[in-house]
Amino acid sequence: MRALGHFWTGSCHATAELMSAQLENEVPLTQRGRVRRHLARCAACQAVLRSLERVVAELRTLRRDDDAPFPSVADAVVARVRREELGAPR
Ligand SMILES: [Zn+2]
Repeated sequence: MRALGHFWTGSCHATAELMSAQLENEVPLTQRGRVRRHLARCAACQAVLRSLERVVAELRTLRRDDDAPFPSVADAVVARVRREELGAPR
């Protein structure tokens, strides 16, 4: 079943894309299982997911406080992940 393994759990790259979409409820149910299975066995993607969840929580707070336009979730996620990769303190 090795050939099916990749299809079943997806790659890190595909999982990262699906995770950000999933946080905005844009992922079909059929894909959510794949993300979950990948996360179950991939520590790197688990760390990315925690980072994404923090970003989304912060954006929701901003949305509540202020109706002014601000960068999309995707932009904020990219900025946050870059910062964390550089090891900058919060
Ligand atoms: Zn991964």
